[in-house]
Amino acid sequence: MPHREKTRILLVDDVPENLLALEALIRRDDVVVHKAASGDAALELLLAHDFALAILDVQMPGMDGFELAEFMRGTEKTKHIPIVFVTAGGRELNYAFKGYESGAVDFLHKPLDAHTVKSKVNVFVDLYRQSKVLKHQLETLERNRQEQEALLQELTETQEELRKAITIRDEFMSIASHELKTPLTSLKLQIQLRQRYLKKGDASAFTIDKIAKMVESDDRQIQRLIRLIDDMLDISRIRSGRLTVHPATFDLSELVRDVVDRFSEQLAAAGCTVTLTVPGPVVGYWDHFRVEQVVINLLTNAMRYGAGKPVTIVLEAGDGRARLSVRDEGIGIAEEHQARIFQQFERVVSASQIGGLGLGLYIVDQIVRAHGGSIRVESALGKGSTFIVELPVEGNRASDAS
Ligand code: ADP
Repeated sequence: MPHREKTRILLVDDVPENLLALEALIRRDDVVVHKAASGDAALELLLAHDFALAILDVQMPGMDGFELAEFMRGTEKTKHIPIVFVTAGGRELNYAFKGYESGAVDFLHKPLDAHTVKSKVNVFVDLYRQSKVLKHQLETLERNRQEQEALLQELTETQEELRKAITIRDEFMSIASHELKTPLTSLKLQIQLRQRYLKKGDASAFTIDKIAKMVESDDRQIQRLIRLIDDMLDISRIRSGRLTVHPATFDLSELVRDVVDRFSEQLAAAGCTVTLTVPGPVVGYWDHFRVEQVVINLLTNAMRYGAGKPVTIVLEAGDGRARLSVRDEGIGIAEEHQARIFQQFERVVSASQIGGLGLGLYIVDQIVRAHGGSIRVESALGKGSTFIVELPVEGNRASDAS
């Protein structure tokens, strides 16, 4: 606390007896008196300590009291120290020093009167202490203000983040409802149609061929629903750090071939031919289900955004890594969007063009990371895209996707 610090007073006089006499007059327990016998000695002390008051003898050989005072007023550190001149001369000398504007100046006249000296010194000591307390209070106030400002800034940022999160959530809710509703509406219409035939007793809509088509179409809609719900569940798993990887040893080339086989009809319906190049078995230690999810996602994206053009899948192995690239010749992705498509809810096309929640690549990225691998895209707008996944063959034995 500044007011508990001792207060320093500087006495400057070339006559040692004067210094001692003055010191005896102003001695107080809470005051430290520094004495200097010349202007030069005084300057040294002035630069080393903070003084509440300097009492200067006007008449000194070398640098006199006024010269010392001029110097003090011209120096930042000593500019505001109140000065009391001790003079033997008459009161007309009072105005010989012109440095009034920068700080207090007062005069003591010889012979010194004990009471006057004491009360003058007390005034300056009190003033000094009050100004110290005030300075401390001001500093505290300023600190508080800065803290409040920082807090306000933080609050504003949080508010902005919240607002963004709410907007994203609202958009997501509306896209998700739309995406869920589309297959459900289609299923409902099919059912209504069948009910009409049944009511009329018309069996022509239920030949083996037609039932086979119905089942296939129903299954497609249901698969679509399942995929959407699975994606949403995966997102909540990733958020809570529960997307764990359960690795086992398997052949990735077999998995890729199998996925392409399973999607052959859908690919054909989309008009995409698929060329698959695999070097032979690529055995690694990965989570079969999750890696399958990655392959399905990249393949269905190539199909959905591939504009019915050929899709080329290449699997390679080397340097302890497996590399899978899925290339399409479809709509492509402009450079400025290529980084954000791996973030959740980020889409480049609008839902009315091609439906989707913008979750697939985010989940893929999380799965690949959980395996210690990486994913990137090379693409040009209108020319097509190549997604390249690299997985360490040893997987990432002690990791999850949190
Ligand atoms: P979704 O396809 O459900 O929107 P994804 O996370 O799989 O979600 O993809 C995010 C976005 O990246 C897509 O909306 C699309 O704009 C873009 N995208 C993904 N794959 C391709 C691709 N093969 N070609 C062009 N754009 C793609």
